Amino acid sequence: MSHVFPRHTKSIPPLAALGEGCYLIDETGKRYFDGSGGAAVSCLGHSDPDVIAAIQEQVGKLAFAHTGFFSSEPAEDLANLLIEHAPGALDRVYFVSGGSEAMESALKLARQYFLEIGEPQRRHVIARRQSYHGNTLGVLAVGGNMWRREPFSPLLMDASHISPCYEYRGRAEGETAFDYSQRVANELEAEIQRLGPDSVMAFVAEPVVGATAGAVPPVAGYFKRVREICDQYGVLLILDEVMCGMGRTGTLFACEQDGIAPNITAIAKGLGAGYQPIGAMLCTDKIYSAIENGSGFFQHGHTYIGHPVAAAAAKAVVTKLTKGGMAARAMDMGGRLQTALEDRFGQHPHIGDIRGRGLFRGLELVKDRETKVPFSPELKLHAKIKAAAFRAGLICYPMGGTVDGNIGDHVLLAPPFILTDDQIGEVVDKLSGAIDTVLAGIPA
Ligand code: PLP
Repeated sequence: MSHVFPRHTKSIPPLAALGEGCYLIDETGKRYFDGSGGAAVSCLGHSDPDVIAAIQEQVGKLAFAHTGFFSSEPAEDLANLLIEHAPGALDRVYFVSGGSEAMESALKLARQYFLEIGEPQRRHVIARRQSYHGNTLGVLAVGGNMWRREPFSPLLMDASHISPCYEYRGRAEGETAFDYSQRVANELEAEIQRLGPDSVMAFVAEPVVGATAGAVPPVAGYFKRVREICDQYGVLLILDEVMCGMGRTGTLFACEQDGIAPNITAIAKGLGAGYQPIGAMLCTDKIYSAIENGSGFFQHGHTYIGHPVAAAAAKAVVTKLTKGGMAARAMDMGGRLQTALEDRFGQHPHIGDIRGRGLFRGLELVKDRETKVPFSPELKLHAKIKAAAFRAGLICYPMGGTVDGNIGDHVLLAPPFILTDDQIGEVVDKLSGAIDTVLAGIPA
């Protein structure tokens, strides 16, 4: 009997024994193509020699030095590398061990910033429906993924949720894409007005929405308007790039493609590429200076901040993404994956939308393409597709539709950037087989 506490207690997973390029191999020797990089983590595949060498070298020199006493060379180098490529005025990097910690740090930094500058009344956070920002209580409150929040609702702080920028479902008939982008962005202004402009601390959003919606990119102009509104009301813009960042969409930071920069951003997942658990929060010098010139102490921290081995691994990863051209490759291969998906599913009666950026792609299932009506969530199509694909040797990341029917089941693909054209074919074939098998088994 296993004493590991699995997430799904009714379906015990096989043991993963080996990682080889884009594949995971279980204890029986069965090979799985990692079409979602786990959960948009394994951007360089599972056996990158440079990252492995960086870890081995660092662990032999220095495994751990607590940041209460020391910084370390890998942490300093990694911070420099990230800031060299970060958009706008992002200037300081606060290391953590994962995405939820990075987002928690972002929220606490935003709050402390306003305390330091004498605006303690700023405490409200506005986020969007169909978003996910992590599973710890602080960020769970901010996330707009209602089923995840439900059981813990008595423990969560208040947060407001406005509409996502979700063209496939949100754009009205006859409305231009630009008008739609401004209409949904302006919901932010209305919510700031409703809460009281001086009481709002931050607006939180994923530039390209990941797990909760299946790689939904913003419409051009949306984030420019969001940036304007935040500036006008002195609200901090916190971008959650935990899933869409680190080259996944074809640029190191996803927001680069929207021509804006945040005040604070969170990264994780692809930063360690699965080789080490590491995340980071980046903020502007203005925010950092408020603390430096104020209390001089960020009232937050975790034991493994700036872990030298994790930082050495991430430095090797970010070097490959930038100087090694892997983020650019994600852009190129992402275009090819989109074309392959459109060729296969473009006329499929139950695929309503195929979208995304770079190697971050989503397909949304619908009962009816014309009306966009989703399948009933009770059918749990996403879980069935995940299981059928897994049986066929493909790891993908399907998620369910919502009960209020404003999003269908969807499948997220986020393969390693090293995948080849042949492997794109393998992903599309296996996914297509899994979707058709599942659809054939549901009542008409
Ligand atoms: N933010 C986003 C957008 C995510 O997709 C996730 C994880 O899926 C998180 C935050 C939380 O990251 P972690 O699971 O590393 O805590």
